[in-house]
Amino acid sequence: MGALRIGLLYFTLQNKLKVMYILKICSSCGKQARIYAEFPCPHCGERAIVRCPHCRETTNTYRCGKCGKVGP
Ligand SMILES: [Zn+2]
Ligand SMILES: [Zn+2]
Repeated sequence: MGALRIGLLYFTLQNKLKVMYILKICSSCGKQARIYAEFPCPHCGERAIVRCPHCRETTNTYRCGKCGKVGP
């Protein structure tokens, strides 16, 4: 569920283009991921669920921090 995204932030500093990675915490394994899939919780829709490619591929379960529902 959810397309994979790369968390990149572009900004200019002293006329130079800088790239910053945005690290997201995977809702399943708790590791920081540069590449992730993000989608709103299918149960409450209020909390964004983040999944790293590994957990997405292995369909690891996640727990919503808002409603506490566990889902694939
Ligand atoms: Zn993960
Ligand atoms: Zn939820």
